[in-house]
Amino acid sequence: MKTEYDIIILGCGPAGLQAAIHSVRKRCSVLVLGKPEASNLYKAHIENYCCVEGVKTGKELLEAGIKQAKGFGVDFLTEDAVKTEFGQSGGFKVETESHSLSCLALIIATGVSRKGLGLKGEKDLVGKGVSYCVDCDANFYRDAKVAVFGNGSAAVHGALTLKDIASKVHLITTGLDISPTLKETLDASKVEVYSPRKIKELEADDSLKAVILDDGTRLDVDGLFIELGAKGAMELAAFLGVQLDPEKFTHIVTDENQATNVPGIFAAGDICGLPYQMAKAVGEGCVAGLSAGSYCQKLKREASKNDT
Ligand SMILES: Cc1cc2nc3c(=O)[nH]c(=O)nc-3n(C[C@H](O)[C@H](O)[C@H](O)COP(=O)(O)OP(=O)(O)OC[C@H]3O[C@@H](n4cnc5c(N)ncnc54)[C@H](O)[C@@H]3O)c2cc1C
Repeated sequence: MKTEYDIIILGCGPAGLQAAIHSVRKRCSVLVLGKPEASNLYKAHIENYCCVEGVKTGKELLEAGIKQAKGFGVDFLTEDAVKTEFGQSGGFKVETESHSLSCLALIIATGVSRKGLGLKGEKDLVGKGVSYCVDCDANFYRDAKVAVFGNGSAAVHGALTLKDIASKVHLITTGLDISPTLKETLDASKVEVYSPRKIKELEADDSLKAVILDDGTRLDVDGLFIELGAKGAMELAAFLGVQLDPEKFTHIVTDENQATNVPGIFAAGDICGLPYQMAKAVGEGCVAGLSAGSYCQKLKREASKNDT
């Protein structure tokens, strides 16, 4: 696999796949990151998508989309982006669970997820010990005892970030779905792992005091980070200065070309807001793919003019 691409797409759902198909056909090299089974479409049954008769499973549609994109020359890496930053000589750097990559343009198509555990008292404790974002809230837990719950890269990265800030980090997981490289880093860390375990209960007065696991283990903690799924796209985007909706910070703001306020960064799909529908995701993916393709072509034309 190459490490330098014209376009890297974060997200392997309908928005990312359609963006890939349209941008690769603009003669760009394209890499799609993400896990198809983590797409919201994967478990859906679709009967309201134009030109598809009857009920199709999301899994079938995703498999067809991936095959189609591969046929046009799109590369795939089934890993999450865990860090995005500006490249030193322009463009962007993207770190996945085990690769360092670079690109001229980024398309963010990571869908939406901020799932809670549905535990009694969980919602009331948000901001009083319960958090869904390590990057946002880690510093509130300096020298404190914390737990992280989750099964993917977000949870492991959360635990690894917190180990340099908190006095004690417990990682609770029902089973990890991460790359061997990330697993090695975790094994070499001082994070205490409880697996396979679930959280049964939260103990609190005004703020969180302890989490109780399903085998009865009690962990006295000041903070619990619930990090389900992949590294939060909002955190990846916010790190690059991408504008989020000013009220709830839950969506990325784009213009009619699916361009964000940061040149070279485009976004598509559920991450751009309601309605959360495949048809909208695909439409925005098409526009984002075309826009990113044009952006890369312009950069290349300017670079070749400067060379002559
Ligand atoms: C149960 C259910 C039923 C539904 N039914 C319908 C329906 O009938 N009709 C309809 O139109 N819509 C339906 N939807 C909604 C539809 O599935 C979504 O609108 C659509 O999947 C959004 O596409 P997306 O590409 O924006 O995001 P998603 O499909 O959610 O894909 C997001 C992708 O981003 C990846 N990702 C996340 N974080 C990272 C990261 N850090 N790095 C790299 N990749 C990352 C994930 O792995 C995933 O591949 C349903 C959804 C659900 C949950």
